[in-house]
Amino acid sequence: MLLTPHTFVGVAIASSISNPVISVPLSFAMHFLGDKVPHWDFFSNTNKEDRLKGWRIFAVMSDFGLSVAVGLFFTLYALWFKGESLLALNILLCVIASCLPDALEAPHVFFGSEDVFSRTLLYVQHKMQFQAPLPWGIISQVLVILACLALLSGSLLRV
Ligand SMILES: [Zn+2]
Repeated sequence: MLLTPHTFVGVAIASSISNPVISVPLSFAMHFLGDKVPHWDFFSNTNKEDRLKGWRIFAVMSDFGLSVAVGLFFTLYALWFKGESLLALNILLCVIASCLPDALEAPHVFFGSEDVFSRTLLYVQHKMQFQAPLPWGIISQVLVILACLALLSGSLLRV
């Protein structure tokens, strides 16, 4: 799954479960479940060489930038608008945890690092991935984001 929907899942978990001892590991685990949602991403049906070429790098960076923006928005929203610093911290930690599996495999994908850790993680993630063709692979991720927003409208975003 793209990083942006993973980020929304992290925010939704953080605003539903206030104890970071539960919410942070759950966010990490939910990454793998998120990848089970049939989805399309920039690396769908590509080989190693294609991944480092042309528009894909730009697209990956855009997705990364967008997820950082979403994570920061909700963190600062909790901090300034709601005045809840613990909630803000929980959101920040859950967002990082929910994107961490992809960040940890970046050295392997982008720099060809062959260490056992990132290779094992990549292997596990590959096994867990459930790819879907366009447009369904994008629609499924939009639905994940909408479900998270629906959840947030009853908690964090309620005024
Ligand atoms: Zn992943």
